[in-house]
Amino acid sequence: MRVYNFSAGPSMLPLEVLEEAQKEFLDFAGTGMSVTEISHRDKAFAPIVEEAEANLRELMNIPENYCVLFVQGGASQQFAAIPLNLMHNGKADYIVTGNFAKKAWQEGKIYGDARLVASSEDKTYTYIPDVDKIAFNDDSDYVHITSNNTIFGTRYTKFPKTKAPLVCDMSSEILSREVDVNQFGVIYAGAQKNLAPAGVTIVIARRDLIENPLPFCPTMLKWKTQADNGSLYNTPPCFSIYMANLVLRHLKKLGGVKEINKINEYKAGLLYDFIDNSSFYTNSVVKEFRSIMNVPFVTPSKEMDEKFVKEAKAEGLVTLKGHRLVGGMRASIYNAMPVEGVKKLVEFMKKFEKENA
Ligand SMILES: *Cc1c(COP(=O)(O)O)cnc(C)c1O
Repeated sequence: MRVYNFSAGPSMLPLEVLEEAQKEFLDFAGTGMSVTEISHRDKAFAPIVEEAEANLRELMNIPENYCVLFVQGGASQQFAAIPLNLMHNGKADYIVTGNFAKKAWQEGKIYGDARLVASSEDKTYTYIPDVDKIAFNDDSDYVHITSNNTIFGTRYTKFPKTKAPLVCDMSSEILSREVDVNQFGVIYAGAQKNLAPAGVTIVIARRDLIENPLPFCPTMLKWKTQADNGSLYNTPPCFSIYMANLVLRHLKKLGGVKEINKINEYKAGLLYDFIDNSSFYTNSVVKEFRSIMNVPFVTPSKEMDEKFVKEAKAEGLVTLKGHRLVGGMRASIYNAMPVEGVKKLVEFMKKFEKENA
């Protein structure tokens, strides 16, 4: 009865996790209450946040000199929190590789001199600029990048080496491939793509960077507020954190990020290989920068794209319509998308091509 959901976010969660949540939904840990009903000050809840943090630290190999925060407001709220916590000299560099990167840059401009140092807008974001050739400014408080571009289906294959702390939006790829956290000053991610239901946002920040928020930074946007209070300054998104923890446990069981990355590469390979060998489907991203999470593609015509989305849905392959900025289709194949789902999609694409080419 369950379909394969290719939504870009909120997106699929592992079946095993949903079943576990269902099993203990009415009575969490012998409390006689649902996890959605207990207080965040209840002694049954604190271990959830602690375990989620410990699991994330283990899976991403997060060093001790970084804090891990569970906050609200989505990645979009962090577009403001970043300058409000870091822009001491009123200057920052931004690389714009897609729609969310552009939004982050525009938000940065509200607070100071947010400078565009590189962009791939000239070719509708189908590539990532060469990070070794970018002239970063010496006086920047930070450099902002978006590591995986959800709408356009690109990802960095190499991160820039910058003097200023590198701040990275990893919303649509966190925990999908191994990264060295030490390369970054701050990593943040809305959880609803690869980690949990909507409502919680992860912030991983080097501790020395959170000490001096701008004087007018709202209390709730100060990373230090959350760090000093173990993410429990006010009511956190309890259920989303609980679900994130179940997903993190699940990832550990699968063998961690290295193993899930192998599976992700395999899934993306199935899809890209098929597209590349077909004269009916096209993906216009420069090969080197293709995302293994979001795969946009088109058929020869708009009418055919519409037909594809409709017929795929009838086969239990849903939410394949592309973003309005790109059109066509987009298959988001995050960690929780089973290999079977991608195989079924490829089979359907073959059949559709035969019937319509
Ligand atoms: C989805 C997404 C966002 C927006 O996230 P919200 O949690 O809805 O604010 C930002 N950046 C990237 C890369 C995304 O994929």
